[in-house]
Amino acid sequence: MSDKNSAQTSPLENTNDWVIYKRLLSYVKPFWAAFAVSIVGFALFSLASVGFAELMKHMVDAVNGENTDSRFWIPVSLVGLFFIRGIGSFLGNYCLAYVSNFVIHDLRTDLFNKFLSLSSSFFDQSASGHLVAKITFHVTQVTGAVTDAVRVLIREGIFVIGLLSYLLYVNWRLSLVILSITPIIAWVVGYAGRRFRGISSRIQNSMGDVTQVSTEAVNGYREVRIFGGSHIEKNRFNKISNYTRQQMMKMEATIAISSPLIQFITAFAMAVLVWLALSPEMIGDMTPGAFVAFISAASMLPKPLKQLSDINAKLQRGLAAAVDIFEQLDQEDENDTGQLPLAEATGRIDFVNVDFSYSPKKPVLKGINLTIEAGQTIALVGKSGSGKTTLANLIPRFYEVQSGQILLDGQPIESFKLAELRNQIALVSQQVTLFNDTVQNNIAYGRLANASLKEVREAAEAANALEFIEQLPNGFDTLVGDDGVLLSGGQRQRMAIARSLLKNAPILILDEATSALDTQSEKNIQQALERVMENRTTLVIAHRLSTIENADKIVVMDQGEIIEVGTHKELLEKSGRYALLYRMQFSDDGGTSPAPVQTAQSAEVEAETKKDLS
Ligand code: ADP
Ligand code: MG
Repeated sequence: MSDKNSAQTSPLENTNDWVIYKRLLSYVKPFWAAFAVSIVGFALFSLASVGFAELMKHMVDAVNGENTDSRFWIPVSLVGLFFIRGIGSFLGNYCLAYVSNFVIHDLRTDLFNKFLSLSSSFFDQSASGHLVAKITFHVTQVTGAVTDAVRVLIREGIFVIGLLSYLLYVNWRLSLVILSITPIIAWVVGYAGRRFRGISSRIQNSMGDVTQVSTEAVNGYREVRIFGGSHIEKNRFNKISNYTRQQMMKMEATIAISSPLIQFITAFAMAVLVWLALSPEMIGDMTPGAFVAFISAASMLPKPLKQLSDINAKLQRGLAAAVDIFEQLDQEDENDTGQLPLAEATGRIDFVNVDFSYSPKKPVLKGINLTIEAGQTIALVGKSGSGKTTLANLIPRFYEVQSGQILLDGQPIESFKLAELRNQIALVSQQVTLFNDTVQNNIAYGRLANASLKEVREAAEAANALEFIEQLPNGFDTLVGDDGVLLSGGQRQRMAIARSLLKNAPILILDEATSALDTQSEKNIQQALERVMENRTTLVIAHRLSTIENADKIVVMDQGEIIEVGTHKELLEKSGRYALLYRMQFSDDGGTSPAPVQTAQSAEVEAETKKDLS
């Protein structure tokens, strides 16, 4: 069901209601039997209610007439009607709740699953608060529409139709008076509906803002306090919350006006009706029973009409939310058309004339040509912002290259199945993410979940993490808190390294993986890492150059281009950018490197490099 829905990519903003209804109905379709029972139930309920008007007719006629059977049949019918009405009500409500709760569940899971297949650029462009609001707030708006609105729509709708048919049957000429007001009511309801829709989508948006601003203030509480941002955050939140309040009031005002207006129009029609009905020619045509039945049926009309018009607001809110949800579901997934299976890569990676940019205006990688032989260790160095992380992120296809190709084992990476490609890669990214779970489950995450405690321990040991883990209150069973807040930066990094070591994949990418560690811990890990790197392709991004001296190849990047390639020794002899960076770090670290021989040109590059090096 979801697959079919996500195949459409047309923007829904301008589509008419019918398209949205149809799509919502596609969610109801699997439960059509329950839905049908529910409609039958409500139909029974409503028809039984109409039956009371008919019963009234018999009652009044019985008072005038001589039919003695009525004394028995009327009370029996009364009880019978209530019984049918009760059964109908139960079937209608129960089955509808059954369907609608499934619809909510399906919508929610579709939405959540969508988050897991969207492209990286989508997340770059979306505020997380708005995404979360869709699952929490928007879906409940649809709940309202699907449960309450559908219930009222079916029950009261059938009731109104039943009443109108009955009126037509009893006296069609009088009924025309009532029918004549329907276009006016339809116009009022339609006008209010359009207004409701507009306001609703503004409310949804501001609920997204509410979530966004509050999560930012909660997650960033340290920055807020230390930089004196409380005042700004308060104002920001106050503004958004107040805007939501205003929109809510507009909504309520529209409801508060439209509902009495509709009732007044109906009352007017009723007045005309009574006036006509009391005219001698009309009365002459009808039995007293028919007359009373007609008036009582007509006087039953305003209540369901009011309910129908009230539910309009809720329905529009649900539809506005559904539009938003469907738009989300229509976002493009990551491109995963590759067919080649990839059980175990040997690990040769080629970049061939690769160009890449996040946005059309600013190229981030330009003409990258680079070969990493299977089992080699390549180090990427360069100023912050020179494109190292970007280059590494292209290998697991977090982003697609604009031109050129990346090959793995001689095949374009797009030709492999995405999941299998990613299965070949272990990554420690610059921003480590930990889940609010135990240490063990964080190391053995995802596909690694079946790893034994022994394997997890070994990985932790290799990542120099065992020592601190054993000192935690519950060892490997300690909960690490929201995104690992209970751990230090260095501990988090070691957990991430352990996770990658446990994965034991042919390709290892370490993006400043040891940046938060002290020199001693880094040295300890270094030895372990070097053992691990021996038989796999490794891409190391490091700003502490002492850690990459043994790399097979060092690649120096600047402004998205490769400016130097060679071994540590070759590059030092070349005394270009790398040699400069290297010498600078040693003088920064108070190191013992030989005093640099400076040329005029290298001094200039040095000044610039020093400024930008993070
Ligand atoms: P490095 O890892 O070498 O410090 P990055 O690869 O992270 O550099 O960034 C290279 C350039 O791309 C920077 O100018 C940065 O602003 C930009 N950039 C990085 N990530 C994104 C992104 N998700 N969206 C847009 N631009 C980005
Ligand atoms: Mg980076």
